[in-house]
Amino acid sequence: MNQDLHKSSCPLLRKGCGGCQLLAMPYPEQLARKQSFARRLLEKWGPVQPIVGMEDPWRYRCKVTASFTTDPRQGLVCGLYVQGSRRVLPATTCPLQDRRAEQAIQAVLQAARECRYTAFDPARRTGLLRHVQVRQGLFTGQQMVTVVTGPDILPGSRRFAARVRELCPGLTTLVQNVNPRPTGMVLGEKCRILFGAGYIEDTLCGLRFRISPVSFYQVNPRQTQRLYELAIREANLTGKETVLDAYCGTGTIGLAAAGQARQVLGVELNAAAVRDAQANARRNHIQNARFVCADAGAYLNRLAGEHIAPDTVFLDPPRSGSTPEFLAALGRLAPPRVVYISCDPATQARDIALLAREGYRMIRAIPVDMFPHTEHVETVCLLSKLNAKQHIEINLDMDELDLTDAEKKATYQEIKDYVLEHSGLKVSSLYIAQVKQKCGIIERENYNKPKSEDAKQPQCPPDKEKAIKEALTHFGMI
Ligand code: SAH
Repeated sequence: MNQDLHKSSCPLLRKGCGGCQLLAMPYPEQLARKQSFARRLLEKWGPVQPIVGMEDPWRYRCKVTASFTTDPRQGLVCGLYVQGSRRVLPATTCPLQDRRAEQAIQAVLQAARECRYTAFDPARRTGLLRHVQVRQGLFTGQQMVTVVTGPDILPGSRRFAARVRELCPGLTTLVQNVNPRPTGMVLGEKCRILFGAGYIEDTLCGLRFRISPVSFYQVNPRQTQRLYELAIREANLTGKETVLDAYCGTGTIGLAAAGQARQVLGVELNAAAVRDAQANARRNHIQNARFVCADAGAYLNRLAGEHIAPDTVFLDPPRSGSTPEFLAALGRLAPPRVVYISCDPATQARDIALLAREGYRMIRAIPVDMFPHTEHVETVCLLSKLNAKQHIEINLDMDELDLTDAEKKATYQEIKDYVLEHSGLKVSSLYIAQVKQKCGIIERENYNKPKSEDAKQPQCPPDKEKAIKEALTHFGMI
């Protein structure tokens, strides 16, 4: 398609669609505009690198939603909402949407007309159909259609499903979702499978992911792969880290990073997405990842209470950003590296300001164009914290060059590994040094001294002391 598609050549835009605010602008200019937007918001915290654009910025949307309404002449119609209103623009095509997804929507409309289904009217609470959402696996070709109804019952749903399958040969699963509430949200909570597995699979970063209708999945899989690769590169993992994937959705980022980490913990509020994440770990034979269904802020507080300190945190919250509770708990846990991925640099800049107060600085930001022709821009920010504890740990590891005989039996890393494996606790070199000194293994004086007078020195809690002593016994050091 013409890279400089003009406003007048998109029929939807002339009718007031407004979905892609930048359609009239050549793509290189769009990228420059997004770059300067990200700079304006983030540059005061650190350098902003050049934006990662798309080679072919068309038809990238693999998640397409259309809404039903009743047209006085045509009866049931289906299309996109006019920006900022409830008015539906009946449409068959949009230059950003995957063609197979558009064909599926037309198939659903035709089958619905044949079944004499009507559009749901939320004010009068009459009628049946609200929306149709298609998710297209870009790399697997799988296709999931979710038909959202107001009422729970979809009369003649078997016939409807059979007809949609006939009209849409690429379909791999058809789901009914029930959303009776007078809300702007497309999906309700309840799903009923009409055909197939009830989810699609797609591949990303060499792994296979299952995605259920109500789980989050990026709309632009091609750029998502680049986004995750960038985020994981920024994390600079060595294989020894405990990684937290906060706001993890179906576990995509954490699982893609799991091969380079000791263990991955994921937290997500949406129960269906957590089930997907757990299934995705099994699907890909990943054994070092655990996923928890909880509010990310509450979960982080719990980790802080249990003294489980992640080394690296991926943080990928919704558009509204993270919460003061989450950011304060993150400050207490003090992971040395935080990779913050955001689809709204404004809320991200607000959160980075809070993290700066917790001692983090932004190393760099990289904008990624996930949504060509719209105003939206995604950014990956690497944040780092250098604290007193970490300085001490680095010095301790250096001091391993000068060991007593008892100490030579196991390195700090071997002790850490043993403790983690046998008690599930993560312990620092500092704590090990404290316990060694208590047990009389360390003869040198300077180990537990903070390097600066004002540095606060954390003391090894009793449960960790017990676990370290067990490891020291195991290695024959005490
Ligand atoms: N990292 C995932 C999902 C990012 S979208 C991916 O790349 O696919 C943001 C996710 O945050 C959504 O899955 C949403 O359900 C989840 N979420 C929203 N509020 C949350 C909260 N308070 N605690 C935990 N997760 C939350």
